[in-house]
Amino acid sequence: MGTEKILVVEDEADALERTCQVLEDDGYSVSTATNGHDALTQIADEQPDLVVLDINLDAGDDGGPTMDGIEILREMRKDSDACVLMLTTTSISYVKVAALTMGADDYLTKPFDPKELTARVQAILRRAKGASRSSGGALEFKELRIDPGARVVIKDGEEVKLTPIEFDLLLALARRRGQVIGRSQLISRAWNFKYAGDERLVDVHMGRLRKKLEDDSSKPRLIQTVWGKGYRFEGEEV
Ligand code: CA
Repeated sequence: MGTEKILVVEDEADALERTCQVLEDDGYSVSTATNGHDALTQIADEQPDLVVLDINLDAGDDGGPTMDGIEILREMRKDSDACVLMLTTTSISYVKVAALTMGADDYLTKPFDPKELTARVQAILRRAKGASRSSGGALEFKELRIDPGARVVIKDGEEVKLTPIEFDLLLALARRRGQVIGRSQLISRAWNFKYAGDERLVDVHMGRLRKKLEDDSSKPRLIQTVWGKGYRFEGEEV
């Protein structure tokens, strides 16, 4: 329950109305977009807390080039860290992996039970809020500073733009500096659900995280891979 702002991006009128109704009944402030252009404009202007993003979007009614949900996600992630719940019509795992890899927080396969939509939305928003509340102090290392409250990472005096999942992975590792954390554990920390699928998903995100954080991502120093076990954060304490 909350007054959080949710943007629903869906091109099918019936589905759009049903989804909005569920969320409005739950007390959220809901706006809508039916194509990629509108979606990106609204994300920039209104900064929703969460975007419910359908993966299949047909011809844009603005006559412009069409974008599917994955393209919108890729584009919005350039300057938004809004939470994203992806709606997919397929249970093909690579589509879900692609969505999560591009920075979606979770996905829901259509057709879905309205209760399931509510549950996922609440879980994502609770996590986003929880992350800012259960902040504690910032984690200081010689190489970087992680502020769980503001969800900001500073390296060499500059903010490093991370997706929510990259941030949560880094935070999970950094909070237990020097300890090996397994992939399944990282998945449950960063996605907040038991993911029974492909643990290589973690490796994909870790690769992106290293590119952003490491001086030389081919010789990672901050985040070490421990073969057969998982990852270990090696930031130097100050
Ligand atoms: Ca659709």
